[in-house]
Amino acid sequence: MTQITNHMPTEELQALDAAHHMHPFTHGGELAGKGVRIITRAKGVMLHDSDGNEILDAMAGLWCVNIGYGREELADVAARQMRELPYYNTFFQTSHVPAIALAERLAELAPGDLNHVFFAGSGSEANDTNIRLVRTYWQERGKPEKTTIISRKNGYHGSTLGAMSLGGMAGMHAQGGVVQGIRHIDQPNWWAEGGEMSPEEFGLERARQLEKAILELGEDKVAAFIAEPVQGAGGVIVPPESYWPEIQRICDRYKILLIADEVICGFGRTGQWFGSQTLNIRPDIITVAKGLSSGYQPIAASIVTDAVAEVIAGCEFNHGYTYSGHPVAAAVALENLRILDEEGIVARVGAETAPYLKEAWESLGDHPMVGDVRIVGMMGSLALTPDKESRATFASDAGTVGLMCRERCFANNLVMRHVGDRMIISPPLVITRDEIDMLISRARKALDEAYEQVREAGLWKAAS
Ligand SMILES: *Cc1c(COP(=O)(O)O)cnc(C)c1O
Repeated sequence: MTQITNHMPTEELQALDAAHHMHPFTHGGELAGKGVRIITRAKGVMLHDSDGNEILDAMAGLWCVNIGYGREELADVAARQMRELPYYNTFFQTSHVPAIALAERLAELAPGDLNHVFFAGSGSEANDTNIRLVRTYWQERGKPEKTTIISRKNGYHGSTLGAMSLGGMAGMHAQGGVVQGIRHIDQPNWWAEGGEMSPEEFGLERARQLEKAILELGEDKVAAFIAEPVQGAGGVIVPPESYWPEIQRICDRYKILLIADEVICGFGRTGQWFGSQTLNIRPDIITVAKGLSSGYQPIAASIVTDAVAEVIAGCEFNHGYTYSGHPVAAAVALENLRILDEEGIVARVGAETAPYLKEAWESLGDHPMVGDVRIVGMMGSLALTPDKESRATFASDAGTVGLMCRERCFANNLVMRHVGDRMIISPPLVITRDEIDMLISRARKALDEAYEQVREAGLWKAAS
């Protein structure tokens, strides 16, 4: 079998990549100087690169390869569907079997009365759909002024203009501006922002910022609140236990639609099928993508309650994507969900793998450079700090030490990401105990080497 990605030496591939390929979230000039890493194939939790390294992927790609790499069943289903019906749309009063079957399955899996599915091609698109959905919902209910959506600083909801505006990433807002009618409140990141408050007090304070914002804007102007059950791209920020119950109370009290962005948390990541179940949230809408197909095909969806769907059904919703419910992507997603369920992968995460990973991950807390250690299900983070007691940040620019640590991870054949000076993991859900042991020992070695480097570079200094 020819392997297209392996058809020339690494340096030639790197030169061509630098010449023609623009990368997401990357400083193009810096990367061109350094040379990109080229992944050629993968199996289970292991990646192979063009230099022959075997790397443990503790990020499951971009938080998405929940069932692991190399599942032939998904390839077979895709080939079969391409032969039978490679494409048809779901506009203009038509449908097809994969979209119908997947919508039905999602309605069954999703909690409560989240029973209606609007498909998209990516998490960003689905969140753009959500902006239009909630505004249309209130318009149809005779409240066209309820348009403002409240979200959180350092939240991540995607990269299209709408989804990026919902997100609270300042660096993204600075490039091209944001859409109107979105208000950001502070994130529940106790380690970084909790000051002298206890985590529980802080959780309540951050949740009550939602109430303050609603009262300031006026109840009749606010459409919805959107948040990730556990912030992913923001650094795997696990909110204090007091946070979500208070958010739920406020959404109920002011009748604000609650959108849970489950793009990372969905499909077993937190130890249950949905993060909303783990965090005890009752959303009106959830966004799903990533683990929906384990990344084998691009597909996403907004799943809404009976009540929301009923209102939207009262009008023509002038919205949709050419690839909404794409038959090949839908068929692959359905097969992925079958495997997650029938092989007991989600159940095993909750009962065995996540508890085992939690204990192993928390053992890294004794490292001199590790402060905050957080983990929910199969997503974890470590805050690097020069002083655990005072929860200090480094004097160097945020991310300097994190990047050093990430480089040492790569050098030890481990993909762990850094967000600023937080290290994060989100491995495939099929990772075994032995592979978890390998992950932890490589992580510890990388931390030791980074610690060494940080001291040698004179960076072991707290910000004043
Ligand atoms: C990745 C992500 C998105 C965006 O999904 P894309 O498929 O990259 O558009 C949205 N929300 C969350 C929480 C994500 O992690």
